[in-house]
Amino acid sequence: MSLVKLTLKELQDQFTRAEVRASEIVRAYYLRVSMVEPKVKAYITLNDKETVLAEAHALDQELKQWRKTMPLMAMPLAIKDNICTHDLPTTCGSRILGQFRPPYDASVVATMRPHRFLLLGKSNLDEFAMGSSTEHSAFGPSRNPWKLNHVPGGSSGGSAAAVAADECVAALGSDTGGSIRQPAACCGVVGLKPTYGRVSRYGLVAFASSLDQIGPITKDVMDAAVLLNVLAGHDPLDSTSAEVPVPDFTRAFKKRDLKKLKIGVPTEYFTEGLDPEVEVAVREAIEELGRLGGEIKEVSLPHTGVAVATYYIIATAEASSNLARYDGVRYGLRSKQSKDLLEMFCMTRQEGLGYEVKRRIMLGTYVLSSGYYDAYYGKAQAVRTLIQRDFEEAFQDVDLLVSPVMPTPPFQLGEKIDDPLQMYLSDIYTISASLAGLPAISIPCGFSRQGLPIGLQIVGRPFEEETILRAARAYELATEWRKKRPAIR
Ligand code: GLN
Repeated sequence: MSLVKLTLKELQDQFTRAEVRASEIVRAYYLRVSMVEPKVKAYITLNDKETVLAEAHALDQELKQWRKTMPLMAMPLAIKDNICTHDLPTTCGSRILGQFRPPYDASVVATMRPHRFLLLGKSNLDEFAMGSSTEHSAFGPSRNPWKLNHVPGGSSGGSAAAVAADECVAALGSDTGGSIRQPAACCGVVGLKPTYGRVSRYGLVAFASSLDQIGPITKDVMDAAVLLNVLAGHDPLDSTSAEVPVPDFTRAFKKRDLKKLKIGVPTEYFTEGLDPEVEVAVREAIEELGRLGGEIKEVSLPHTGVAVATYYIIATAEASSNLARYDGVRYGLRSKQSKDLLEMFCMTRQEGLGYEVKRRIMLGTYVLSSGYYDAYYGKAQAVRTLIQRDFEEAFQDVDLLVSPVMPTPPFQLGEKIDDPLQMYLSDIYTISASLAGLPAISIPCGFSRQGLPIGLQIVGRPFEEETILRAARAYELATEWRKKRPAIR
């Protein structure tokens, strides 16, 4: 089998047994990228081939001296372009950051460096991770490898498309309201959003700090566990990072069935607005989870209907504050048109920020302004607590919750770009778990008649990623979805 088709675990096993050299991996991947990247456009910045090859040669030289390799050694990865890397620009898909080169690595990157992974490039995203399609990227949209005139989802659409198109073996994404899970579903790959606090956010460019989480986008569930093993853990540089023990997540796969697991199906997730093709695929997946030994139960999450509204108040409020730092003074773009300081602030933001980002800054500023704060922001915080309580109650009765990831299969490029509300509804099933800070995974569970992927979401209790991974892996091994590959035409 061609090298680029292997999962991270498979490639790592071959590298460890010295059946493949790091330099061969690099050549195979750059060849693949040169063939499909002009169509898929997954990357904003591609790393220089000679630089990566030099690192690979060094690895090959040193291989004989090591007694043991590390799990990400020589693995070609893509990193979402809102995660700071000192050796490549970090643009956040925005003109305002332009060629910004961070002076430091994000903690997740710093943690991975000793593994000597190979950084292939920085993947595309909606500007500042605001969107569900990558169409809000200042560098143009990425394409869905399954059908090039369709969106790859967003905001981590570049990462998901790169994994699906074999342009990297795995990728990092970030998820604020669904941005790992939704693009993973659109591209037929696996996306895991860890519990809030499980993975450090230090060096992830902030969008909505109480929601943002970094996580893996991979070819299968095994790879998600392998990456989470490296990413998870307390970081003193992130005050919201949790001091909880980190298990070996791959041990979750020891159990191959779902016996003694209670799996809840939220009634409110199967109502109006859910595309029939998605519903059929997800219901069949739930039956399969039952055949694997899971006990399926209906549950209720009564505040589901107000989750999107709550999210768009909290996320925009936090964004308006976080994005105030882009003023032309410290980094990135500075307008050349201005005559004085105030004009410099205004012109820089006017020229540097895109339409969607401006919309959110205005919305966020409004809901935080005096006279409206209690009515909007205060209320949304109260409702967020109610949403969290819905989950706490459901998790008294069940161990996991399953649902669709997205209400429809991936849509066409341009289809929702002029209708922000429709775009926002893409995350209707992923947003609640984000507001509650819960871990959740998206795995492939079928295809639409048009041949576009459909995802299944599995949500767990805080810090119980192992239970999610166990169920997801059992389902993955019992079905054939992961074996289908896009033709990229
Ligand atoms: N699509 C949602 C938004 O636009 C979620 C984005 C994200 O998770 N980063 O805010």
